[in-house]
Amino acid sequence: FIGGNKMNLKDYIASIPDYPSKGIVFRDISPLMADGEAYRAATKQIVDYAQEKEIDMVVGPEARGFIVGCPVAFELGVGFAPVRKPGKLPRKTISVSYDLEYGSDTLTLHEDAIKPGQKVLICDDLLATGGTIKATIELVEKLGGVVVGCAFLIELQDLHGRDKIEGYDMLTLMEY
Ligand code: AMP
Repeated sequence: FIGGNKMNLKDYIASIPDYPSKGIVFRDISPLMADGEAYRAATKQIVDYAQEKEIDMVVGPEARGFIVGCPVAFELGVGFAPVRKPGKLPRKTISVSYDLEYGSDTLTLHEDAIKPGQKVLICDDLLATGGTIKATIELVEKLGGVVVGCAFLIELQDLHGRDKIEGYDMLTLMEY
């Protein structure tokens, strides 16, 4: 598994001020994905973290959770289950709603995606307020899955998303 440990992954994150709205600094992971070595190095760090946890399934919320989670699942030799917005998964789903600053959002998961007792690693690109990860954890636990880790490329520390998932093991590769 190639991919240098000495790479500074932050060199591959583009920061775009006032996108998608004023006051937000968007942290864009697409330069990291575009560089084979950087993408591999980031994936390898998550795989190393997951290796001793005997993961059965990786779960990731759309859309960038797929980008982070799928190569990790592939390398671990386990399956991947997508968490999606309502109306996107074709079979029977379970759902969880959570509050946003204005309004609310809902995430869904196929009801047979996780078997009771399976150990799950959740992957996403970025931890902001923690609403997405909290809802994803709830979905997995509704199906009887055990969340043994949460891995993110980026954590926005000012938003304290970490507090929302206290008690869960987590890994972040870059902090802003
Ligand atoms: P949250 O539910 O607040 O933790 O938000 C997490 C989700 O929103 C992640 O899946 C990110 O893809 C996206 N997100 C939130 N804030 C940013 C940001 N500043 N830059 C890029 N993506 C973001």
